[in-house]
Amino acid sequence: GKQAGRGYVVPFEPDMLGDERHRRFVERELRAAILMDELELHYQPVVDSRTGLVRSHEALVRWRHRVRGMIAPSQFIPVAEQSSLIDRLGEWVLRRACADQAQLGTPVAVNVSPVQLRRPGFVKDFTLILEETATPASGIIVEVTENAPLLAGSMEMENLSHLRMLGVRVAIDDFGAGHASLHYLRDFSFDIIKIDRTYVADFAANPVNAMIVAAVCDIARTLSLEVVAEGIETEEQRCLLTAAGCTSLQGYHLGRPMPLGPAKAIRAA
Ligand code: C2E
Ligand code: MG
Ligand code: MG
Ligand code: MG
Repeated sequence: GKQAGRGYVVPFEPDMLGDERHRRFVERELRAAILMDELELHYQPVVDSRTGLVRSHEALVRWRHRVRGMIAPSQFIPVAEQSSLIDRLGEWVLRRACADQAQLGTPVAVNVSPVQLRRPGFVKDFTLILEETATPASGIIVEVTENAPLLAGSMEMENLSHLRMLGVRVAIDDFGAGHASLHYLRDFSFDIIKIDRTYVADFAANPVNAMIVAAVCDIARTLSLEVVAEGIETEEQRCLLTAAGCTSLQGYHLGRPMPLGPAKAIRAA
């Protein structure tokens, strides 16, 4: 990295994640950031495609670094996943999201790494945080990305079904972007499908893509699952994905991820 200020500025670029020295640097900084409360959650609304009402908010973690400014999750989640730091980060995210849930006034969706789900104590710690913050299980949705293969009978699947028994809803994130989509539909029980935003981006231009989305929506309707279209950026996409059968929509066109406003202070005044 180039010299600056108090010694260094090392760019947090994904192509450097393979570099062991850089990885250790990010890991050390992130560990401190969790302790020093340099992380924050931004919330993005998920709206009902028919009524426009906000059904839930997705919590998206941000790192406000004292030198680097705002750092996106894609630049540090993969580093955290290579160590037990992902567990600390995940606990911080869940605790913060639970604390904010009542003020948001909707259920909150948190992203959970498959690495977290591999830990046998995951559900116990999850439950403790719900209790500590007096958050009902129905107020939380867990999003798991479909990119990492979750196998039937694995610890990951066991933890997910345990969460569902408690009343936490489970969403399959980035559906269609990984390799396991159909096997997920067949073997696992979950509540929500989030169609990857690449399908939304290609929707108008590619008729086969549009047919795939419509077919997924048909299956979801049969199984009584909610289907969220991610990455809605235009009014045209809002109309097309609603017509295709998506029950909910998320994207910059409907609302950007934002820090939680000072609603509490305003209500108190
Ligand atoms: P994701 O869960 O699929 O989250 C949606 C991503 O799409 C977010 O990026 C969001 O800002 C972005 N997005 C929303 N609407 C639009 C749109 O209309 N157009 C475009 N181009 N993008 C849109 P973000 O916040 O950078 O997060 C990236 C990924 O990082 C997330 O993808 C999720 O996999 C992961 N992530 C975020 N927060 C956490 C967390 O707390 N824990 C874990 N384990 N992963 C997280
Ligand atoms: Mg997500
Ligand atoms: Mg997604
Ligand atoms: Mg994603």
